Amino acid sequence: MPTDRDPLALLETWDGLGVVLRHDQPTGTWIIIALHDDRLGRPAGGTRMKVYPALADALEDAQRLAEGMTHKWAGLDLPFGGGKAVLAIPRPLEAAERAGLIDRYAGLIASLNGTFRTGPDLGTTPEDMARIAAHCPHVLGYDFERRYSVDPGPYTARGVYESLKAAVAAAFGDDDLAGRTVLIQGVGDVGEPLARLLAADGARLLLADVDRRRAGGLAAELGAEAVDPDAVYDLPCDVYAPCAVGGTLNAGTIPRLACRVVAGSANNQLATAEDAERLHRRGILYAPDYVANSGGAMAIALMQQGLWDEEALMARVAGIGRVMAEILAEAQEQGVSPLRAARRRVERRLAAAQSSDMRSK
Ligand code: NAD
Repeated sequence: MPTDRDPLALLETWDGLGVVLRHDQPTGTWIIIALHDDRLGRPAGGTRMKVYPALADALEDAQRLAEGMTHKWAGLDLPFGGGKAVLAIPRPLEAAERAGLIDRYAGLIASLNGTFRTGPDLGTTPEDMARIAAHCPHVLGYDFERRYSVDPGPYTARGVYESLKAAVAAAFGDDDLAGRTVLIQGVGDVGEPLARLLAADGARLLLADVDRRRAGGLAAELGAEAVDPDAVYDLPCDVYAPCAVGGTLNAGTIPRLACRVVAGSANNQLATAEDAERLHRRGILYAPDYVANSGGAMAIALMQQGLWDEEALMARVAGIGRVMAEILAEAQEQGVSPLRAARRRVERRLAAAQSSDMRSK
């Protein structure tokens, strides 16, 4: 249902740096580049392509996602600022229309001269990134020499795997996954490689996907069990790994959960920040999503800095497990939810960057 909110009000009340807004006449698409913070470096974040009910919804999504990128980069201690782009298409586009839109979007990014750098996100593909890279060098995770765009999924899966192990260690006293039951919701680009890593450790896997054939095929291959996607919130398990859509942790589902740990890749798993407290009160350990799912972003940021070796990249991504362990330990020491502890860590990083920035002025 279209929203009647005023986009200008969203711009007025936002604490970010600013928004670049352009209407693409040939396709009727709103191009939105939200720049949230540059204290750690120039803004960078993926490009999302999606149909929204109205401009205000797309703008709000871009602003929220850009802020999320500020937290993600700061949590990883990487020299990038928070930004995100949204291409709010009016309907799914034909191939030629889409190519035209991407070319014009690439022209806009080029005109910003590196103020914003981007990579793939929901709805955009490695092919889109290759098109943008033909116009300008401001694409993360694109190998300009060999001309291919990296799939971040396996790196994200590795970060989730290490985070999940850190959370299991914090909840159960050791990180041994043999015999632990892990329920993965969504076995796509991230959920599938995650399932493979967990299966290799001897975890008992329950796989749920709205694409039942996909879950069934993978379950048969890994000796796992495919489960009804509508039953996930009631199934007893040690770990629930949301790897499909956002908002699955909410006032309706949290009371039903029969797990000790939540650790997955989905963005914005909590419907509201209050849901972190709900989980905390129920004694369910929540591995903050923007830390757990940061492996892909981290890998493409490192590629931007010249590190392309697969093994070295995976080793750096595996370090997310240590970051998660520190966050969970701080949460436990201070008796706060892991989300709050993660937030404090980010605020410390940003404040330190700001004070060194002020000293250098
Ligand atoms: P994907 O589209 O490849 O896979 C998602 C899978 O979830 C699909 O198989 C789909 O059928 C299934 N699904 C959708 N809705 C479902 C539901 N309600 N119940 C069960 N299954 C459902 O996506 P992906 O790249 O694997 O990303 C998964 C999540 O992780 C998304 O929320 C994404 O934003 C987030 N994420 C992904 C990356 C990455 O590197 N790909 C990085 C950070 C965050």
